[in-house]
Amino acid sequence: MGGLFGVVATENCLYDLFYGTDYHSHLGTVRGGMVVTKTDGFKRNIHDITNTPFRTKFEEDLHKLEGNSGIGVISDYEDQPLLIGSHHGNYAIVTVGRINNAQELAHQAMSNHHTHFTELKGNEVNPTELVASIINSEPTIVQGIQKMHQTIDGSCTLLLLTADAIYAARDHYGRTPLLLGRKGERTYAVTMESCALPNLGYTVERELGPGEIVRITPEGIENLAPPREEMQICSFLWVYYGYPASSYEGCNAEDVRNRCGAFLARKDTVTPDLVAGIPDSGLGHAIGYAMETKIPFKRPFVKYTPTWSRSFTPQESSMRTLVSKMKLIPIRELIDDKSLLLCDDSIIRGTQIKDIVQRLFAYGAAEVHMRLASPPLLYSCPYLNFSRSKSKMEFIAYKAIHALEGDVDDSVLAQYTDADTDRYAAMVQHIQTQNGLTSLAYQRLEDLIAAIDLPAEKCCTFCWKGCRRP
Ligand code: SF4
Repeated sequence: MGGLFGVVATENCLYDLFYGTDYHSHLGTVRGGMVVTKTDGFKRNIHDITNTPFRTKFEEDLHKLEGNSGIGVISDYEDQPLLIGSHHGNYAIVTVGRINNAQELAHQAMSNHHTHFTELKGNEVNPTELVASIINSEPTIVQGIQKMHQTIDGSCTLLLLTADAIYAARDHYGRTPLLLGRKGERTYAVTMESCALPNLGYTVERELGPGEIVRITPEGIENLAPPREEMQICSFLWVYYGYPASSYEGCNAEDVRNRCGAFLARKDTVTPDLVAGIPDSGLGHAIGYAMETKIPFKRPFVKYTPTWSRSFTPQESSMRTLVSKMKLIPIRELIDDKSLLLCDDSIIRGTQIKDIVQRLFAYGAAEVHMRLASPPLLYSCPYLNFSRSKSKMEFIAYKAIHALEGDVDDSVLAQYTDADTDRYAAMVQHIQTQNGLTSLAYQRLEDLIAAIDLPAEKCCTFCWKGCRRP
């Protein structure tokens, strides 16, 4: 995934930039970067944050950077921010999203013999550099951003820092959020996570709409391209990866999670001794379930937060399994002889759930029921680098279908997305049995959308339904 944050001020903005970018640390695990500008050009730092939190890595840099405007990024893959010299003048740029046709666009750009790319990773172009090259191919920055939105297959939200302003552009369909914050008369922030604003003294000015472009200076916010009506915001923001304290399109993530849990509870018939959430992203769902049923919410697993604080997990599967085991400490007194109901956002690959269930039964659990706040994941996300899975074959739901039927065509697969079909019931039963669960139930898609509380046509649900809209 990735996250970004920017500040425009009339005095040194570094501390706001530092903490504001840090508040996006749950969105990426590989690279962090900040760039600031004053009168003497750009000053930039990029660090590998694979094993060390952003704040720890960048604390040492604070005295080396100073500027009145700056942008920062947490990135899962590429080095950012990039510094670009162009006919638009010098600028720095950060992006969040995914470009499926990156190689094709890079070849097209290079075919004119005037474009080259310097930030290759293996043989792949850096997507942020590709975005900059498209922006540079047009007479103005705004025309360049709009051309980029029209030519990429995927999604891109960006911040572009010039000597005197930040250009902020939300992706064409608004799959990722982007908000403006204000502090006093002449200081502005732009952020993906609204939770980055209050502790830094900002209030939310407004959200940008899909495809909207603004230019931010201490004098104010200039609208350069209006928002589009059509929106497909990522529903997974509320279910999983958005921060609970953030709101997107006016809907708070923790509130939505509580409602997800309540919807699950209303459809349920089991009567466990306690309700628990898989830390951290299952907690809001579990609280909602417990409030609805009046069954006690407890923590049979406690996360060891002093060192395992990050919610995103490592890239390698063996490390993911180890981390998932080490960070959750079971409490025998809350498990032994108890019927437990666990809530989580989703099961993607299912590599951790089996281990959790086995550990609970080893600690004496009488029953382990699992409730998931979203429907079974059957399609890889084509818009964001949300899931590291390259293929749907890695998804636990797809593996269950494969075990039941072998290879299936799209029409058969579509039946598994319908919670009222026998095929859907067989898939859920298979996952339940394979993981040793006493019972398993997933959220229905219509209940998830009702919990988000936005019109269904404004929410992207591709990874559950497979309908690429538009
Ligand atoms: S496909 Fe899924 S993860 Fe990707 S933008 Fe849509 S809802 Fe979000």
